[in-house]
Amino acid sequence: MSNEIKTQVVVLGGGPGGYSAAFRAADLGLEVTLVESRSTLGGVCLNVGCIPSKALLHVAKVIDDASEMASHGVSFGKPEIDLDKIRDWKDSVIGQLTGGLDGMAKMRKVKVVSGYGKFTGSNTLDVDGTTITFDNAIIAAGSQPVNLPFIPEDDRVIDSTGALELKDVPEKLLVLGGGIIGLEMGTVYRALGSQIDVVEFADQLVPAADKDIIKIYTRYVKDKFNVMLSTKVVAVEAKDDGLYVSFEGKNAPAEPVRYDKVLVAVGRTPNGKLLDADKAGVNVDERGFINTDKQMKTNVDHIYAIGDIVGQPMLAHKAVHEGHVAAEVISGQKHFFDPKCIPSIAYTDPEIAWVGVTEKEAKEQGLNIETAVFPWAASGRAIASARTEGQTKLIFDKDNGRIIGGAMVGINAGEMLGEIGLAVEMGADGEDLALTIHAHPTLNESIGLAAEIFEGSITDLP
Ligand code: FAD
Repeated sequence: MSNEIKTQVVVLGGGPGGYSAAFRAADLGLEVTLVESRSTLGGVCLNVGCIPSKALLHVAKVIDDASEMASHGVSFGKPEIDLDKIRDWKDSVIGQLTGGLDGMAKMRKVKVVSGYGKFTGSNTLDVDGTTITFDNAIIAAGSQPVNLPFIPEDDRVIDSTGALELKDVPEKLLVLGGGIIGLEMGTVYRALGSQIDVVEFADQLVPAADKDIIKIYTRYVKDKFNVMLSTKVVAVEAKDDGLYVSFEGKNAPAEPVRYDKVLVAVGRTPNGKLLDADKAGVNVDERGFINTDKQMKTNVDHIYAIGDIVGQPMLAHKAVHEGHVAAEVISGQKHFFDPKCIPSIAYTDPEIAWVGVTEKEAKEQGLNIETAVFPWAASGRAIASARTEGQTKLIFDKDNGRIIGGAMVGINAGEMLGEIGLAVEMGADGEDLALTIHAHPTLNESIGLAAEIFEGSITDLP
């Protein structure tokens, strides 16, 4: 490859934000160069995030569903776990998707440059010795797992990437951090046979979600995970026979507890400080985030930033939409990133899903709200599936009756959340949802029924 490349748009980072921006820019007729340091495109999401975790969660779900069938008269016996095959299958899922991206880049004539990029000036990047001169840049360099400095470096201490490698199934696993990533990986390892403890500093799991929803989740998993809330890890000692973990807080065990592995899942930190962004004049804050306006422009007019590196929520679908906006603005369109809501989903069992304003946020913001809750104990489909623990909640603006948020816990909650997101984006009110005929018996009937509760046409529920 030549040591100099000139391009209209360089995209730094080939994750969901980066490849979406690159493809949209190319579709709009721009000449695009995409820089990625991994050997495959797809970023964290496709390689070590969303996709491999869901492939493993699928395996976990089949194991759990099969074991639950015994009480309905069908027994499958103890599952035989072949870790090599599970790993191969997960890797083949990743390969299908990342390979597909290569093809899509080729089709659009997006030049993919492999290597680590750093800014050398306001219009130049160095990628392992190759100079890229650009008219516009989109920074999509993502984030990485947070490490806790007091935890020793040891093969038995893993982050989400290590957990997805599935090297073994530890007998006793501590999940440090009761957020989405920790709980998803805990779900996988428990189904494969690990005994799981979860420790969370806050007084509830998934602290961003509403308490009522999380209460249902926590009740359901209480026989599967040992959950220690309002508790923190203060020390980890690596010994030959395991990791000895000391806790402090409300539910802390008095003595250090021995684990075979510890999964640290306490959040992700943006990669903003690793790019020499100052050489291009781009401001990076003390945590490594890059601020942008609603057109995804940084403080430097021709340099944009998108995805995890610009802030919360660190989610792939947010990165994709921001990427599209950046590319469209560069091509001359007057677009903005201004969604009313961004969905969040924990693909646990049961799933936890919310979109728009949470009840907690509404209270903090002093909004005049009313909620309507439909318990799945009254859903024919939930009863027929033996999964009645779920709940659907809609949050309305009391002043105008519009839906401003919603949350669900239960099987397939994530797949059903889109309807509530659409309602929020379109400014739908309770009547719009209540009069929309939902098929029977489905779990997403619960959305229409929650709206009917708000409208006052259903009053008697179990
Ligand atoms: P990234 O995906 O982080 O991609 C950035 C890319 O830039 C990386 O490939 C990196 O190698 C490259 N890069 C960085 N610096 C440079 C450089 N200087 N030069 C060249 N290349 C560089 N989100 C969801 O929406 N749904 C989920 O179900 C979900 N599950 C997750 C599960 C796990 C275990 C994890 C860890 C994350 C999950 N996420 C999920 C979050 C999601 O992966 C991220 O929000 C998303 O990948 C962010 O996209 P991005 O484009 O901003 O950055």
